Amino acid sequence: MIRVTIWNENWHERHDEHIRAVYPDGIHGQLAAVLGSEADFAIHTATLDEPEHGLTEAVLAETDVLIWWAHVKHAEVSDKVARRVQEHVLRGMGLIVLHSGHMSKPFLRLMGTSGTLSWRDGDRERVWTVLPTHPIAQGLPPYFELEVEEMYGEPFDIPQPDELVFISWFSGGEVFRSGCCWQRGYGRVFYFAPGHEEFPTYYNEHVGTVIRNAVRWAQPVLRRGDFACPNVTESPESRCSGRS
Ligand code: ZN
Repeated sequence: MIRVTIWNENWHERHDEHIRAVYPDGIHGQLAAVLGSEADFAIHTATLDEPEHGLTEAVLAETDVLIWWAHVKHAEVSDKVARRVQEHVLRGMGLIVLHSGHMSKPFLRLMGTSGTLSWRDGDRERVWTVLPTHPIAQGLPPYFELEVEEMYGEPFDIPQPDELVFISWFSGGEVFRSGCCWQRGYGRVFYFAPGHEEFPTYYNEHVGTVIRNAVRWAQPVLRRGDFACPNVTESPESRCSGRS
């Protein structure tokens, strides 16, 4: 089983009637439904208001892939929990950061850049698959369209992605690196841009395929227990010569 924790700040859905109408079970609830088709995914959800934001050491230790959606409450995520998420990624946990999560503390800690971009309300988005051989691109057409999405545009202040899977074009003319992969320590990080809270993006079948594929891609290959730097007093050479 791949153990997935879906984390959502869960604020818009509880405070804005229009957004609640789009996501009556919360964005985390819809993401859980998107992943629910996979028999080998064990899905857990957590939200900002829970003790330690629902991301205790025990929860993260039992999470293979963490999905992160947040927008207006980045500053309310405690530094302690953000550091804990960062450390679990460095030790092997996968992290999928969605949409406005580009300004979240865990993402910025892992990237080391400002995460800033340009944006505009409501535009048509065409998501191009630019790396069709990548595991996250499997089952997708050469491009798909979202009739209305928030425009996210370049320059996007991120480190150069290890792999760029999607580029988006908007009807206003902008382009954006909308599907980016990085390795950080033992962990894999994927950023996917679509998913503004006012629009039904997480009901789109192709977006669902991307997120399911990303979970499989981001699952840990190997998890390390700690960050020790061992003092290797005996070298391989000395061990070899001792044997003779
Ligand atoms: Zn947005």
